[in-house]
Amino acid sequence: MSAASLTITALASGSSGNALLARYGAAALLIDCGLALRTLEGLLRYQGLAAAQLRAVLLTHEHGDHALSAAALARRHGIPVVCNARTRQALGAELEGVVVEELPVGQRAALGPFELQSFPVAHDAAEPVGLRLSAGGASVAVAVDLGSWSEATVAALRGADLLVVEANHDRELLRASPYPRALQQRICGALGHLDNVQCGELLARVCTGAACDVWLAHLSAQTNSPQLARTGVRRVLDMAGVAGVRIGVLPRQAARGPAGAPTWRAEERLLVQQQLFEL
Ligand SMILES: [Zn+2]
Ligand SMILES: [Zn+2]
Repeated sequence: MSAASLTITALASGSSGNALLARYGAAALLIDCGLALRTLEGLLRYQGLAAAQLRAVLLTHEHGDHALSAAALARRHGIPVVCNARTRQALGAELEGVVVEELPVGQRAALGPFELQSFPVAHDAAEPVGLRLSAGGASVAVAVDLGSWSEATVAALRGADLLVVEANHDRELLRASPYPRALQQRICGALGHLDNVQCGELLARVCTGAACDVWLAHLSAQTNSPQLARTGVRRVLDMAGVAGVRIGVLPRQAARGPAGAPTWRAEERLLVQQQLFEL
C-alpha cells in the first residue's frame, strides 16, 4: 500500500448544490456543503465516510448552493465550520451553536495534514473566496462562483495540481434563454459567473507550465452542457497554444455508489507524470 496521497472527490457541483470532499489518509474535510443534509450524508457514506469523521467544513461563501446544510452538519456531528468573518456574519443566526474557525482572506492555516489558504474572488456575496488546499506535496485550487478574474486569481491558481474552476454558461445560450434580463445581467456580470470562454481564458493564463488537470465546475443546466463547456474551454486553450491540459467536467450530483463520484488522486497524477517523464 502506498503512502497517503491527496484525493479530491466531487459530490455535487452547480446551482443546485456544491460539495467537494478532500482526503489525505484518514483525514477528510469538505469544501462547501450546499446540499440537503440527508443527501450529503448519503453521498459521504458511498465514499466510506461518516460525516463525524470530517475535520472541518470550509465555506467559499454564504450562498445556499454552497452553505445550505453546513450549519446543520456541523451541529449534528460536532464539526467546525471554517470561513471568514463576513461570511460568518452573513450566515448570522444559522451558525448558532456551531464552532466557527475564522480564516481571514489570504491567511494560511493548517487543519490536520492539510494546509489551507483562501484568496478573494469577484462574486456578489459578502466576502467570497477561492481555496487552495495542499497535503503531502500535492495541491488543489478551487475557484467557483466568480464573475471575473484578475492577475491575483491567476497567481492564486498557478502551480496547483488540480484546478476546479467554474465554467457556468455559454454566452449565446444565456442570451437566448428565457431568463429575465436582470438575471441574465447578474449572471454574466463581473460579480456573477464565468462563462466557458472566460474560464478558458483564465486557464490559458494559469496552465502555462507543467501539465494541468482541470475540472470544469458549476455548469448551468439551462445555459450550458458538458460538451459545450469542454469544447469551449478547449478552443480557447488551443488558440492560446496551451497544451497538456486534461479536462474533466463535473456532474451536478454524483451518482449513487462508491464509484459514482468523480475522484482525482494525486498519486495517480504523479504516476502519469512519471510515465511521461520516462518516455
Ligand atoms: Zn454557486
Ligand atoms: Zn454564489
